[in-house]
Amino acid sequence: MGRKILLENINIPGIKDYEVYRKNGGYTAVEKALKSMTPDEITEQVKTSGMRGRGGAGFPMGMKWSFIDKKSGKPRHLVVNADESEPGTFKDRYLMEHIPHLLIEGAIISSFALEANLSYIYIRGEYMWVYNILEKAIKEAYANGWLGKNILGTGYNLDLHVHCGAGAYVCGEETALIESLEGKRGNPRMKPPFPAVSGLWAEPTVVNNVESISTVPWIINNSGEEYAKIGVGRSTGTKLISASGHIKNPGVYEIELGMTVDEFMNSDEYCGGMMDDRPLKALVPGGSSVPILPVHYIFKTANGEDRLMTYESLADGGFVTGSSLGSGGFIVYNDTACIVRNTWNFTRFYHHESCGQCSPCREGTGWMEKILYRIENGMGTMDDIDLLWDIQSQIDGNTICPLGDAAAWPVAAAIRHFREEFEYHVRFPQKIKNRDHFVSEPMEKVRHLLK
Ligand code: SF4
Repeated sequence: MGRKILLENINIPGIKDYEVYRKNGGYTAVEKALKSMTPDEITEQVKTSGMRGRGGAGFPMGMKWSFIDKKSGKPRHLVVNADESEPGTFKDRYLMEHIPHLLIEGAIISSFALEANLSYIYIRGEYMWVYNILEKAIKEAYANGWLGKNILGTGYNLDLHVHCGAGAYVCGEETALIESLEGKRGNPRMKPPFPAVSGLWAEPTVVNNVESISTVPWIINNSGEEYAKIGVGRSTGTKLISASGHIKNPGVYEIELGMTVDEFMNSDEYCGGMMDDRPLKALVPGGSSVPILPVHYIFKTANGEDRLMTYESLADGGFVTGSSLGSGGFIVYNDTACIVRNTWNFTRFYHHESCGQCSPCREGTGWMEKILYRIENGMGTMDDIDLLWDIQSQIDGNTICPLGDAAAWPVAAAIRHFREEFEYHVRFPQKIKNRDHFVSEPMEKVRHLLK
């Protein structure tokens, strides 16, 4: 069994409740941090741990904390990003549902490190039942003196609120989240200024993901050095992976960064191999916005090295032969999966979720969705495939927030690696129209027909 940090106590009956959490070592990290450490010492420990934000971008967390403006004299804030909406990603929900006090404990320590007295957890609108779990846990934390005035007699005050969004994917982008928290429409802001200087109500703010903040108690209890010993190179620690698709054991797993993709996908402890033992066709390793990998780049990089579950190895080869660890949404496809349909489905999602502020994203996502619909339904042309490539390349890097990139990358990777499947859709419209739309012809047959 691999090392567990976040899910170590997850199976203890009643761990969701305060009493059980406390009996099993809960809130000891808050005691240690508030009574024996300074805010800067906590930040140093997080820096030493090498912990990288687990929301998708992988930015070093301690460094992000050190950017917060403490000199302006303005109030500071921690905002926990619980707006988990990336298709294929459901690991933050699992943590909050099963061990909510871990997040609250992490939020208290992190707020103390940032010298923040008012912090928030922003949760996606579709997670209403999880919102209720967090509300209850926050009330328990207040009742037991972990939140409020003069926590543990140290003179430190902290109020923590949970705020429910209205169900917009774009609010996972930190500035859109802040706008939404301020009561406005969740439109991303132009950066700079970055939230560390001008965030919530134009005050210095750090936005960190649920998994990242939930790791802080372990780092404080065990030290940043110990955390840095887990994992490989700059990919330190453990990572939650939400595995789904054509595998035997879908679910949420905590892995030590550095294991091979092969082991994660095929060992009984994790995904358990392919469902019904069908052949593997493709993998999306980090949520719907990262490039899809064809079978020959899943277990090995283009250089022939083992592909590892790390930030670096999954990105090896850039977006030509590599992908990204992203948010840890690990989606597996067998030989029956239709990549065109999958790409259309993802694009439909991004078009629906585009906030509409910038033209490449607003117009481009809708345009791509229409073209993909045509191709998927046997009405496309060869020019459509080239047009699709052109549109995604015009979106990539030309938008205010990363949602535009997130819409472009899956389309680019699908055409790059599965162009034959797009051409097959165009050249054999009758076969496409008459088939079960969720099932693809095997690639060998597609290739044979295209000859
Ligand atoms: Fe809005 Fe899309 Fe522009 Fe982001 S990229 S600001 S979601 S239109």
